[in-house]
Amino acid sequence: MLTPSDKTLDTLNFDNRFTRELPADPALANHRREVTGACYSRVKPKKMANPALVAYAREMAEALGFSPETCESERFTEIFSGNRLLPGMDPYAMCYGGHQFGNWAGQLGDGRAINLGEVVNQHGNRWALQLKGAGPTPYSRMADGFAVLRSSVREFLCSEAMFHLGVPTTRALSLVTTGETVMRDMFYDGHPQQEPGAIVCRAAPSFTRFGNFQILAARGETEILKQLADYTLRTDFPHLVQSSGEISKETILAWFDEVCQKTAEMIVHWMRVGFVHGVMNTDNMSILGLTIDYGPYGWIDHYDPNWTPNTTDAQGRRYRFSHQPQIAQWNLLQLAYAIHPLVGETEPFEASLNQYAQTYESQWQLMMAQKLGLKTYDPESDESLISDLLSLLQMLETDMTIFFRNLAHMDLNGTPIKEVTDDALMTPLLEAYYGSDPLSETHRTKTTAWLRQYLTRLQTDGLENDIRRKKMNAVNPKYVLRNYLAQLAIDKSEQGDHTMVNDLLEVLRRPYDEQPKNEQYAKKRPDWARTRAGCSMLSCSS
Ligand code: AMP
Ligand code: MG
Repeated sequence: MLTPSDKTLDTLNFDNRFTRELPADPALANHRREVTGACYSRVKPKKMANPALVAYAREMAEALGFSPETCESERFTEIFSGNRLLPGMDPYAMCYGGHQFGNWAGQLGDGRAINLGEVVNQHGNRWALQLKGAGPTPYSRMADGFAVLRSSVREFLCSEAMFHLGVPTTRALSLVTTGETVMRDMFYDGHPQQEPGAIVCRAAPSFTRFGNFQILAARGETEILKQLADYTLRTDFPHLVQSSGEISKETILAWFDEVCQKTAEMIVHWMRVGFVHGVMNTDNMSILGLTIDYGPYGWIDHYDPNWTPNTTDAQGRRYRFSHQPQIAQWNLLQLAYAIHPLVGETEPFEASLNQYAQTYESQWQLMMAQKLGLKTYDPESDESLISDLLSLLQMLETDMTIFFRNLAHMDLNGTPIKEVTDDALMTPLLEAYYGSDPLSETHRTKTTAWLRQYLTRLQTDGLENDIRRKKMNAVNPKYVLRNYLAQLAIDKSEQGDHTMVNDLLEVLRRPYDEQPKNEQYAKKRPDWARTRAGCSMLSCSS
């Protein structure tokens, strides 16, 4: 007997355009290989021993028309662990290449991600569903195709946290454990261990990456490159395609320009919330400007623009917080090289890349002005106001999230700035400082001087306190997925207790709201987490 939940799942409306319209790898055997002349390979998820649901994301489930009962059904777990394929599915792994840490790495591809197909929901929205950690594919190279619970918890929670923060991102529907173990050498120190295996079902309008174009260009497969570009325009950028359906050079250039703009917007959001991706290789850059592939990412605790969470990146710090805007531009340049054969000219690409820098700069300024509660960015006063603040934040370990959140508490209640004491000025911010020592005299003097400058600027702006506070609270989150919180949730999950994963998921649904019952999740990083793996640094092992 099929339950109503089973029916909902079994009648999902699949429309698999990617596999229908693009060239497939003719070989069906699942062994590691170079796949040429194709955009993907058909491959089935591996059957898992004993899948169990850890968590699902309510909003994503709703977007697919799933009720809580449906998500909690046995069939749901079977499907999203890859153990049951539905008739409309057409599972495949994508072929892509990429630059890793600045060097061309050749073919990479979905080594452990298997796309189940594309669902069109009741509103006509398209969601490609993808299992990460579902077993080997032709693109698995030397690795096993699986994912461990710790990295899956991190990907699952962060995808949804970013969504609720308003940051463009791929989404996560579900997290399951597989009932199997996976061998990982987490510290790359020759001590591999068995870890619990897990699968995240990711969702996005499309998972196409810069690297999908790069691999075709690198191989000189210009005809397929053109097909993939045409396809991407028609499916992901339909507003750019003329009614005749013709895709001209101008269309390709308008598309590249839009990818530059979308990428700039995404990076401005990362800088706003203090997110460091950690592995901005070109295969981890979405053509839709979505944050994709949550690996050794991290959240800025104390404000340090040079911080990178990725231990593999500790030497060069290529992917450090402050470098993300430049790296995105470098990655866009690689995309430009890849699609250049479709256009043949160079100047228009250069213009878009320059425009990227300008868009980024002006949007970043506006974003920073918003974080400070200003109506708009006034270069006269705000350039130095902002750069002075950023230097101050680095002088003494200062929690980025708490500092900006608490800045909204500044309220003179009509007292003239000159008459406010330094103590009164500092009080709302004290919570943001790490270290047990009281602030040094120098730091205190500099901070209060900056605060007086800031308050004077607010007065010229003339926004009412309440309105300013509301606006600031809408861009300065109270709750982010602090590295140590994710690690605590992982520690519990690895013991079979998934409550904290679900608690965090719930808290992070409303990151800008005050949640009096959840204050503990807004606390700054405790001292023990400063040097613990997973809390301050992460390896790529996942
Ligand atoms: P990343 O930069 O971590 O997103 O991954 C780089 C490449 O390695 C991608 O092609 C992944 O599919 C592949 N990869 C990472 N981990 C595994 C794994 N455990 N098994 C197979 N392929 C993997
Ligand atoms: Mg990747």
